[in-house]
Formats: sequence, C-alpha cells, structure tokens
Amino acid sequence: MAQCKDCERFYVLEEDDSRGDCIQKGKDERQAYFYTKPVRAEHEADGCDSFHPRKN
Ligand code: SF4
Repeated sequence: MAQCKDCERFYVLEEDDSRGDCIQKGKDERQAYFYTKPVRAEHEADGCDSFHPRKN
C-alpha cells in the first residue's frame, strides 16, 4: 500500500525522517501558489486524490 513517503509531493524533514510536509501547487484566478501541510511519512496515501507516485 502506498504511503506519503512514496509520493512526489512529500518533502521529508531533515531532523525527523518519520515526518514531512505535503507541498502542493494551487491556483486561483489571480495567481499560482503553494500550500503545505504536515504529514507523517507512513500516512496512508491510498485515499488521497493528490497522490503522485515517485519515479525513482
Ligand atoms: S497527503 Fe497526498 S499529496 Fe500529500 S504527500 Fe500524502 S499522498 Fe502525497
């Protein structure tokens, strides 16, 4: 089963590799932006519509 650590949008914390940030691009009519949320590396990714598998 896929986990957040298997997703391109997951950026691991240097000080703790069990945690990281999910960073996604958003866009409204005026600008593009990024939004982040903290996630656990082993969080289930199967239910996430934004999951993007890593290529490496
Ligand atoms: S919450 Fe979804 S988009 Fe974010 S890192 Fe996890 S699987 Fe990827």
